[in-house]
Amino acid sequence: MYSFALINKKIVKRNLNLRKAQAQEKRKNGKGSWRPLKNYLGKVVSLSSSELTGNETRISNFVHDISKENLLAAIKDANITGMSGNSFPVYKKINTFLSSKSGKKILLINAVECDPALLHDEWLLNNRYAEILQAINYMTQAFSLERVILAVKNKYFKSNGKLTVSTVPPRYPMGEEHFLIRQAVGIPLENTEIPAEHGILVLNIQSIYQICKIANQCYDGGRFITIADLTEATAKIAYVYPTGNISNLLKTGFGEIGNKHLYKGYGIMLCTGATEADNFSNHETFAAYTNPLEIKNSNKCKRCGSCSRKCPVKIKIDKVVQSVDKNQIFDYSPYHLERCIKCGSCTYFCPASKNVSGYVTEILDLFHNPVGY
Ligand code: SF4
Ligand code: SF4
Repeated sequence: MYSFALINKKIVKRNLNLRKAQAQEKRKNGKGSWRPLKNYLGKVVSLSSSELTGNETRISNFVHDISKENLLAAIKDANITGMSGNSFPVYKKINTFLSSKSGKKILLINAVECDPALLHDEWLLNNRYAEILQAINYMTQAFSLERVILAVKNKYFKSNGKLTVSTVPPRYPMGEEHFLIRQAVGIPLENTEIPAEHGILVLNIQSIYQICKIANQCYDGGRFITIADLTEATAKIAYVYPTGNISNLLKTGFGEIGNKHLYKGYGIMLCTGATEADNFSNHETFAAYTNPLEIKNSNKCKRCGSCSRKCPVKIKIDKVVQSVDKNQIFDYSPYHLERCIKCGSCTYFCPASKNVSGYVTEILDLFHNPVGY
């Protein structure tokens, strides 16, 4: 099943609740300079309660320190993958970083959370900061870190630990690793370069939090996600386990959901449909319900080129859309679709409400699975 964005600019403009939430975030963080990235999306949901939905086991007493060997072994045993939803093992990333020949060892903590409907990273900063600082202490000592940088969007955030806070412009998709490194560390890396090989370890703030639990033998396989009622533009933070049922969790959080459609994924910009029977896997960071989607590829392209202009990695996606819609045989290799970071900006700004990013995933999927072609 192909992924898609649940909103676009037109939908936000027409829905008063989504618009209000967006205006609220704009007042809080501003729109930031357009120089690093042109697109602004802003949050379209806001927390209806800061109370956690679900139960989490907390650490009662922190261990003072942990050796490099013990910390690495514990992270490997816990088998955690990137908490931003990517399925890459954190242990492997740290190992690549530690074997890097770069003299400088920088830990960049990503708390930017640029998807318009994700709020759990900011919640963690506000509600689990002691554990985050403790994990930074463990990692600084065990991995001989030279610098720790915490990247946030909130200009009012104040740190009280031994770390540098980098407040980045709330532009989209600033949370993507390469954009973030350029902005927060000042090192321009190509899309194809692996940051850990250059001595820069980028970890999501929740991965840092879970490392604290791992070091204290308190990791339970659960994680924080955002759940949302998109009809009301409200959200809550939930603690979920891989066997948790998505529909039940949404009912626990918001009450009856009627005949609304269910979605799961990695934020409002990268979702798939869900059924009543679906459980969470190890990776989702978002679950929501809303009215039937208006974003469809049967809508006619207006040939405006907006999708290409808004693509942060400069893919000429309008040409791809037009050729697919005309069923033309097409060589896609010059368009470098493999550079797509699945941000959904093309879909968000499409005035014809097409699922533009879905064209990329569909083509890439066909390319990797030629049997289905
Ligand atoms: S083509 Fe990919 S990278 Fe470009 S805007 Fe669309 S989803 Fe984002
Ligand atoms: S797909 Fe949408 S944004 Fe792209 S050219 Fe067509 S109408 Fe414009």
